[in-house]
Amino acid sequence: MREIAIIGAGISGLATAHAIERLAEDAGIAVNLTVYEREERSGGKIWSIKEDGYLCEWGPNGFLDNKPMTLELCGRLGVRDRLERSNDNARKRFIYSGGLLNRLPENGPMFLQSKLISWPGKFRLAMEPFIGKRIDGADETLAEFARRRLGPEALDKLIGPMVSGIFAGDPETMSLKSCFPRIHELEQEYGGLIRAMLKLAKQKRAERKAGKQVASAAGPGGVLTSFVSGIQELTNATVSGLRGQVKTGAAVTELKPLSDGWQLTLADGSKVEAELVVSAAPAHILKELVAGFDGELRELLAATPYAPMNVICFGYERQKIARDLDGFGYLIPKKEGCAILGTLWDSSIFPQRAPQGHVLLRSMMGGATNPKAIDLSDAEVKQKTMDELRKIMGIAAEPDFVRIFRHQRAIPQYTVGHAKRLEGILSRLVGHPGLLVTGNAFFGVGLNDCVNAANQAGDQVVKRLGVTG
Ligand SMILES: Cc1cc2nc3c(=O)[nH]c(=O)nc-3n(C[C@H](O)[C@H](O)[C@H](O)COP(=O)(O)OP(=O)(O)OC[C@H]3O[C@@H](n4cnc5c(N)ncnc54)[C@H](O)[C@@H]3O)c2cc1C
Repeated sequence: MREIAIIGAGISGLATAHAIERLAEDAGIAVNLTVYEREERSGGKIWSIKEDGYLCEWGPNGFLDNKPMTLELCGRLGVRDRLERSNDNARKRFIYSGGLLNRLPENGPMFLQSKLISWPGKFRLAMEPFIGKRIDGADETLAEFARRRLGPEALDKLIGPMVSGIFAGDPETMSLKSCFPRIHELEQEYGGLIRAMLKLAKQKRAERKAGKQVASAAGPGGVLTSFVSGIQELTNATVSGLRGQVKTGAAVTELKPLSDGWQLTLADGSKVEAELVVSAAPAHILKELVAGFDGELRELLAATPYAPMNVICFGYERQKIARDLDGFGYLIPKKEGCAILGTLWDSSIFPQRAPQGHVLLRSMMGGATNPKAIDLSDAEVKQKTMDELRKIMGIAAEPDFVRIFRHQRAIPQYTVGHAKRLEGILSRLVGHPGLLVTGNAFFGVGLNDCVNAANQAGDQVVKRLGVTG
């Protein structure tokens, strides 16, 4: 039996374990796999908490169905029938601007009618096809890209809120190439975004005409998908589907290269050995583990900052909220000066998240643009959130249910230079055979990205076992 150790039982570590077992079995290689997890539970950022009839997500709400990776994992685990697609009404998204919740336009006519962007701002956006592409192809910030191609108003009201919604990030520091690689490619390939959209739409029409099956995305970014009992069903099912063990309450505190593998020291002082190690731990943890044998790798890992975030769950009796909750929720441009980044109308997205006659709202506070929010007391967080909900949604009532979750390090920030640093990390790892990395610090933060990177890590591990066996 070949010993494999995985550090971290978030979705990245668990999906890697699953991929290794599956691919090793296909290759006829017997493996003995152990996942070491610091916390007393598995799941990492995934944690679905049921209390007083409310189902609150500590971290992610779900994954998008426009990429196949997580859906395929669910299929292999036999839990596809447990999936829950978000409500059709939740396709409507809003941006809070100028004292109003403005519906995010989804097509040309809606865009022209929308009051979200001023006429000069709309005109500037319409100039996008006439802006030349960046010829050096260099990495730039999301803000530089948006200002250059779409204009400053689109940056403030569209791109900025989107970046805070996905990454809790600051567009002035985040890398276009690493955060939205497809958009970078579209500019390079087609010379602009509107040109790319038109050409791709034409291509699709032609393919349809030729009788080809064309994937029809239900909305630009797919449909948010979770499980009846919350997204934790995904990690629970992955743990149950493993033949190997998941050891919780077992932090890895030291990693040492041996002549024929690796030695891991655990928090209780015990030592274990493995032929191959995959780290699916956050970059700031891995940097400490490699410090003893590769200072350069440590420095590269240390260069990935994490944004902190508070997640605030408020439950109300439905009748206490006068406005409709017909939509996904809203994001807030930084210029509005609000204490929260936005609010998801969780029980509109997935109807079973609140008791009958009640609703669940989940607001986000902090991120890279307001990192000090993590230091506020619970009372301050609650009061500031209530003040914003009164101003934005007209909710005067005290919430009947309050839960505040803290993420000191919520989401890794792919700042400019991330791709180059990642190249550096991967080339340092060549010098440490048998040590691989995966996880949201490297190859994308969405659950689909994590599962995709886990599949690739699994593939690399099994190929290596085949070569060295
Ligand atoms: C509030 C929030 C909302 C989000 N919403 C969405 C969403 O709706 N959709 C989406 O696709 N993505 C979302 N994301 C992003 C997504 O949840 C994460 O990128 C993903 O879950 C990260 O998984 P991971 O396994 O790479 O890392 P983690 O989940 O962070 O797992 C790393 C694991 O390593 C463990 N560990 C740390 N140190 C050690 C050690 N020394 N020894 C052993 N184990 C250790 C940790 O305890 C943890 O369990 C959200 C994230 C947050 C924070």
